[in-house]
Amino acid sequence: MDSASGIDLDPNVLRHLQTKKVEERIEDLNNQIWMEDDAVGYRLVTVIDEGLSDLLVGFRDEQGFFEKKRIEKAKCEVPSLNNYSDDLCTLTQPNAATVLHALNIRYTSNVIHTYCGLFCVVINPWRTIPIYSDEVKQLYQHRNDLPPHVYSVAQNAFHGILKGGRNQSILITGESGAGKTENTKKIIDFILSSSGSNNTIGECVVTSGVLLEAMGNARTTHNSNSSRFGKFIRIEFDENSKLIGAKIECYLLEKSRVVSQSDGDRNFHIFYQMLSNYFDNPHKSFLKLSKKVEQYKYLRNDDASIDDAETAKLTDEAFSKIGFSEEEKIWIFQILSAVLWIGDIKFGERSGLDVSFVESVQEVDNIAELLEMKSSKLVDALTQPTIKVHDKLIRKNQNLAKTLSSASAMAKVLYERLFGWVVKRCNDAFSVDDTKSSCRNSRFIAVLDIAGFEIIEKNSFEQFCINYTNEKLQQFFNHFMFVKEQSDYLEEGIKWTQVNFANHLQPTIDLIEKPMGVLSFLEEECVVPNGSEKSLLEKLCSNLAGDSSFKKSKQSQKYSTVRHFAVQHYAGEVHYNIDGWLEKNRDNVETSVLDILSQSTHPLLKVLFPPVPANNLKARRGTITNSTVSFLYKNQLQCLLDTLNTSSAHFIRCVVPNYEKLPGKIDALLVLSQLKCNGVLEGIRICREGYPSRLPHSEFIERYSLLLKNKEKVSGASEKEKCAHICQDADVRKERYAVGKTKLFCKVGVISELERKRNEY
Ligand code: ATP
Ligand code: MG
Repeated sequence: MDSASGIDLDPNVLRHLQTKKVEERIEDLNNQIWMEDDAVGYRLVTVIDEGLSDLLVGFRDEQGFFEKKRIEKAKCEVPSLNNYSDDLCTLTQPNAATVLHALNIRYTSNVIHTYCGLFCVVINPWRTIPIYSDEVKQLYQHRNDLPPHVYSVAQNAFHGILKGGRNQSILITGESGAGKTENTKKIIDFILSSSGSNNTIGECVVTSGVLLEAMGNARTTHNSNSSRFGKFIRIEFDENSKLIGAKIECYLLEKSRVVSQSDGDRNFHIFYQMLSNYFDNPHKSFLKLSKKVEQYKYLRNDDASIDDAETAKLTDEAFSKIGFSEEEKIWIFQILSAVLWIGDIKFGERSGLDVSFVESVQEVDNIAELLEMKSSKLVDALTQPTIKVHDKLIRKNQNLAKTLSSASAMAKVLYERLFGWVVKRCNDAFSVDDTKSSCRNSRFIAVLDIAGFEIIEKNSFEQFCINYTNEKLQQFFNHFMFVKEQSDYLEEGIKWTQVNFANHLQPTIDLIEKPMGVLSFLEEECVVPNGSEKSLLEKLCSNLAGDSSFKKSKQSQKYSTVRHFAVQHYAGEVHYNIDGWLEKNRDNVETSVLDILSQSTHPLLKVLFPPVPANNLKARRGTITNSTVSFLYKNQLQCLLDTLNTSSAHFIRCVVPNYEKLPGKIDALLVLSQLKCNGVLEGIRICREGYPSRLPHSEFIERYSLLLKNKEKVSGASEKEKCAHICQDADVRKERYAVGKTKLFCKVGVISELERKRNEY
């Protein structure tokens, strides 16, 4: 059915929403099959001969020569008759090849949105397209029969709130550069304009986005505005569906970027904005910003194509709109300037001795002045920290490496807490006021913008955390789909006991979370004396060897057994390199550094580093298991899942079509690997286990009644009975279809079979 028929829209907009209806003809597809291909993903080939487990196929290669090849049947997929479909689960043959083919057809004809069961897949257009205008927005606010669009997903969520339903959440994932943040913004904008009434809160939410992007985004090789943190934005409504507030929660800020960046990457945008021409020289000299970007060690790789002065203006205005005073802005920039100076302190080491020292005092003096502390105390804290021995504080010398790491830790903790404080201030600006939050019937629409599953060349602790997150989110999806399918079948009166595919992910999650699992060994190794990555790996390998989701890495050039272990994730096996895990997870800041920060008289540092009572060892030492990154994150993630579990979920999967940022071009292998990682293919697999094709009785009868052997026999029969008769007469086996109250449910392939029979008439 052409869902877009009758839309009154500018043709230029319409061509981005729907493709021309191109149905494959059965005679064209006879003897055709999709064959796996290393270069293009899948290739449509002709079957010449069929063996027991293989096929002889023929096809024309790139040069136009006819080639023949024997291939395993397992590496083939059956073509679909309807490749134009708005929902890929309704393809007559949903599988990896037909999904890729359909997405390719749609994307190359400018259509970026496609449903795939419960997913809305959005392919980054890499250019501005006219489908986000007020006119389109209004259309989606008032009609529910329109082609796929993120607005439609947002409208469904909003509708859920309007009709007094549960909390709603929209989960957006995808790899870097796929468009998660762009789509998040479009959805938030849609929801805010649909709820209309409270403009102040809406404006604050949008403005806070500017601040979070300034402080949490950076240019990377894949994305010039890459979010280096995850976020969960809740828009809250009262019992009358009136907007009453919002809340932002952030996850895993990549603070290591403050002190070092990979080739081609930049530091967080805010540093460059602070040094741009937007701010005048007196302001800069007050903040001791006396150097140019390229002269700061922490700021390599400037990028002339980014207009930092323009964005600095937006950030400055955003700070004011949210309610930061001029004085508070100065405090923020003082801390940021101090962070840059930390990178430029020149440390030395006495040869042959484990004694480090500061070579020139200028940088340290600048930091001390900016952060309102004594220069000499700062030097001591960094180079000669105090330790407690039998209740006595004594100074100890330390080598250059330790001092450098202590200084980086100081820069990172300053930035991290500053970021946290800015987020908190944004939250204060639009939080639900107390009287309303206690209102029992308040509900929210939440949008999750979080990095998708990733397998890169060197997978480390960061990839482990993000893949663990995605394993949990995929489990949430599978469970959600299971519950939804069950209720669909129940509603239609169909008996069906489906496998809950959520359980299939449990072994991997258990491997990570269980009491003697990866995280607990990691946390323990962070606190035991002389803990090391080598011994952590040994413990993992000896204790988890029998676990089906755990693999010792085989000795190979790529993955050495002394540095790697592998985990079987739903999206594939990932080899993790264990180097640096303990330091990353301990995330230790020297007590002496925390002490001088909490003793400073700087008004903002007093807030960021409140004094720690001397007897509160746990808080002072930061090396106790329950203050490790993994421990804190595991709990944060569990809270997120608890929240998601109370909500009705909507899933958006963003896909980057190519890394060259070219509109209209699909890199098939890149897209295929994302469909695998982001769970779309898993969704299709689950969908195939059930009855993916569902047609209303009347539609089914209209199209296939000519297959009835005896038309008189069904005169007077109900629509439901007619459907059953058609299936019987067409020799569809009983277990391959089910007649529900309003729809006919079919297994994969039934519709193709019926089409073929219909065609023979
Ligand atoms: P990261 O994980 O690195 O934060 P991301 O998935 O959030 O990546 P975005 O920053 O949203 O990716 O998108 C990357 C770029 O792709 C954008 O800056 C924009 O140029 C382009 N883009 C993405 N989606 C759209 C869209 N719907 N319309 C136009 N351009 C888009
Ligand atoms: Mg992003």
